[in-house]
Amino acid sequence: MRPVELLAPAGNVEKGEIAAAFGADALYFGIDQFNLRARSGNFTLEEAQIFIRRLHELGKKAYLTLNIYPKEDDLRPLEELIDRVAGLALDGVIVSVPGVLDMVKKRAPGLSVHVSTQANVTDSRSARAWKEWGAERVILARELSLDEIRAVTRKADVETEVFIHGAMCMAYSGRCLMSKYMTGRDANAGDCAHPCRWSWYVREEKRKNELFEVAEDERGLYIFNSKDLMLYDHVGEIIDAGVSSLKIEGRIKGILYVATVVRAYRLLLDALAEGITPDPLWRETLFEANNRGYHTGFLIPGGYESKLESSRTFAPYDLLGYMDARGEFVAKAPLVKGGTYEALQPLNPAIETVRILDLQSATGVSTEKGQPGQRYRIETSLPLKPWSVLRYRRPGEDQPGET
Ligand code: SF4
Repeated sequence: MRPVELLAPAGNVEKGEIAAAFGADALYFGIDQFNLRARSGNFTLEEAQIFIRRLHELGKKAYLTLNIYPKEDDLRPLEELIDRVAGLALDGVIVSVPGVLDMVKKRAPGLSVHVSTQANVTDSRSARAWKEWGAERVILARELSLDEIRAVTRKADVETEVFIHGAMCMAYSGRCLMSKYMTGRDANAGDCAHPCRWSWYVREEKRKNELFEVAEDERGLYIFNSKDLMLYDHVGEIIDAGVSSLKIEGRIKGILYVATVVRAYRLLLDALAEGITPDPLWRETLFEANNRGYHTGFLIPGGYESKLESSRTFAPYDLLGYMDARGEFVAKAPLVKGGTYEALQPLNPAIETVRILDLQSATGVSTEKGQPGQRYRIETSLPLKPWSVLRYRRPGEDQPGET
């Protein structure tokens, strides 16, 4: 199989470390306010510098998101940021508009430029135009079918990147005013409040006080509420179409989500590369990560679906915590000595049951219970590698059915 990059989100340093440990080949992240995930945490310049060095030591790549639609007042700060990141040894920056590409090419000519999915590239002429302007990769719009992905990649003769997993917009790749209009939070500045997931009614123009339910039940209508994208079953075809990078969405998603999803796709890609049959259990774990039900988006005709019954996200598991690089356990939920949990370990194809045999504070004081936000030394029934993640089943949470 042709080698392909598995690209994962790094909402902050700890999520980035987890994604790298679980097998991402490259990570994307934002600095300051100039990216499309203003509330995801982001990196300081200093954190980015250390993180990039660390990724390079691991043989992985680092991409910085600069994919806002800048207004006049943004141009000067954006130029200053480009000047500051020019020497960071980034492997690429992600831009949405030609002006920012031009800015990068003039101020930091050594930086590779990737064109964001926010640029909505759906055809080979546009992809080629971006290439002629200096872009090295185009992240295709999510609205393309497999045949269209193949055609654009072949005709434009430019590296392409495709989203394979994560949340979808009912608007064109996030070009949407709904959130800004209803809440003041701007989706095009990475601050979407997701009103499309809310329950909706229809109102006829001349009967202003009457709301018409167009609902399947009494809770309302969730007609705009897109299911999440999952292209696990089509990864081989996407690679055959010539795509260079497979992207996982979700810089605002949590640690458990990142570990679970990156792990599943890493195991799949390695199995495909080695010509072995993927274990069906790897695919099942994607249904154990937070999701709104899955569909295949626009890859296969008729694949796009809204989740009409509710806007609820299925979250069958919660994160207990993770092992850091020093071997300390970082608790994210209450834990107990003697408790039994499930361990996802980097590059381990099985999810194992593990028991906490001994629990001590970071200063070595034995305790029966641990609290979120604290670090602990733990002895477990199985050795845990750095960046291993422990989870527990959320009581009463149903597993969503496959759709
Ligand atoms: S409101 Fe919904 S469709 Fe609009 S940008 Fe946000 S997630 Fe996308």
